[in-house]
Amino acid sequence: MVVRMRHTRGHSNNRRSHHALKAHGLTKCECGSMRVSHRACAVCGRYNGRVVVDHAAKAQAKLVKKQKREGTKSQAQK
Ligand SMILES: [Zn+2]
Repeated sequence: MVVRMRHTRGHSNNRRSHHALKAHGLTKCECGSMRVSHRACAVCGRYNGRVVVDHAAKAQAKLVKKQKREGTKSQAQK
């Protein structure tokens, strides 16, 4: 390290004074759970009063995919 590039502790600390993390804005959803603002609710999938993420359909699709995968796996073992 070149001496010219050395910063004092105060200089480094001043720079790092802006590095603190800020908490995300949490708001209460219509369903009663807390959700991150400007994001769809993770519980009911609503955003701005309407359902944008259909959690029931997603869970069903995931289940079907899992069953399909396990089905092919068991056939391969036989
Ligand atoms: Zn919700």
